[in-house]
Amino acid sequence: MNHIGHLHIPARTIMTPGPVEVDPRVLKAMSSSILGQFDPQFTAIMNDTMGLLRKVLQTNNHWAFPIDGTSRAGIEAMLCSVIEEGDGVLIPSFGRFGGLLTEISERCGARVHSLVCEWGEVFDPEIIIKEIKKVKPKVVAMVHGDTSTGRMQPLKEIGYACRELDVLLIVDAVATVAGTDVKTDEWMIDGLITGTQKCLSVPSGMAPITYNDRIETILMQRKSIEKGLATQTQLSMNNFDRRIRSNYFDLSQLQDYWSPARLNHHTEATSMLYGLYEGLRIILEEGLQQRFERHRVNERALVVGIEAMGLSLFGNPNFKLPTVTCINIPEGVNGDAVRTMLLEDFGIEIASSFGPLHGKIWRVGTMGYSCQQRNVLLTLGALEAVLLHHGANIHKGEAVQAALDVYKNVGRVHVK
Ligand SMILES: *Cc1c(COP(=O)(O)O)cnc(C)c1O
Repeated sequence: MNHIGHLHIPARTIMTPGPVEVDPRVLKAMSSSILGQFDPQFTAIMNDTMGLLRKVLQTNNHWAFPIDGTSRAGIEAMLCSVIEEGDGVLIPSFGRFGGLLTEISERCGARVHSLVCEWGEVFDPEIIIKEIKKVKPKVVAMVHGDTSTGRMQPLKEIGYACRELDVLLIVDAVATVAGTDVKTDEWMIDGLITGTQKCLSVPSGMAPITYNDRIETILMQRKSIEKGLATQTQLSMNNFDRRIRSNYFDLSQLQDYWSPARLNHHTEATSMLYGLYEGLRIILEEGLQQRFERHRVNERALVVGIEAMGLSLFGNPNFKLPTVTCINIPEGVNGDAVRTMLLEDFGIEIASSFGPLHGKIWRVGTMGYSCQQRNVLLTLGALEAVLLHHGANIHKGEAVQAALDVYKNVGRVHVK
């Protein structure tokens, strides 16, 4: 007979682009007792979470709340609530997650216009702006930081152009919010999605989003049509069913649930909300600017260490995503064997890559609570040891020293 033992979770240092380590305060919050979803104590936490989210997302939008589900649940809620059958959607894609936006938009019935660039590069905003003028889409949907290639697309000029041309800009900022500056309002982003398990440093399972009145107007139109037409027969007779196709991801219903009306929709994910609430409080206690600086310093130390080892980085350095570092796997080294040894012998996890980059690069995340001096130094030391074990030709004893110099020059950087 198989015996199913106690849940055993080994100690890990997680240096991937998510999920990442979580502050013990968040885990503690998540083990609090359950409250009913309409208990005033719970709805107060819902309201407070909206307030915390507005600050972290740098927006004055009224609507800022989490979708229950992983980040792509947030993306799907945003896209399926905004896009109607036949709408033009322009998707400039510079990695795998641009592909996700395309796939979801197509399922919503969009006419998708794709723009692609070589992996490791980003777009010259002018090229996107020219394309917007040409295809006149209703929506531009794009990724801010694509973890698959470790690049970050500048959005400010694109945001201004979209507003001027009356096009909606929807942004996947899953990998960037709370790790590097994401100015939702200043960059004129209409709808923004993030996720919990990256720089927010909360377990996977919620996708905070925010949207402005330009998007809310569309939601209200699609909703009033639903209310105005009494029966399904009338809907099909008029051939004019503009209702949002998903119940679970219907933002017009979800915002009613998050409003003082508290119209019942789903049952809010109690423990996840406790975790998100505490995670957001930790971010604001640290301070957004201080947090971005911590991410920059640890990224710097990691990069300097990797280069001192004699390894090279993948992609255009001018547009590097500060929260993910892509390392070219040296000639003759089996990337997966190195990752396995890091995990099994050192308890350190780094990521492989997708599609055209699989087997070519490793991806090391420096996100949220995982983004610490101790983790960076341990990862550099362990990677060097494992590479030497695999016979790689690297500079011995340089990486950790070079990283230590970075920390010495900026003063010690801790999590808080
Ligand atoms: C991780 C990630 C996602 C998807 O997240 P899930 O939580 O796995 O659904 C989407 N976009 C980007 C840019 C990501 O890095």
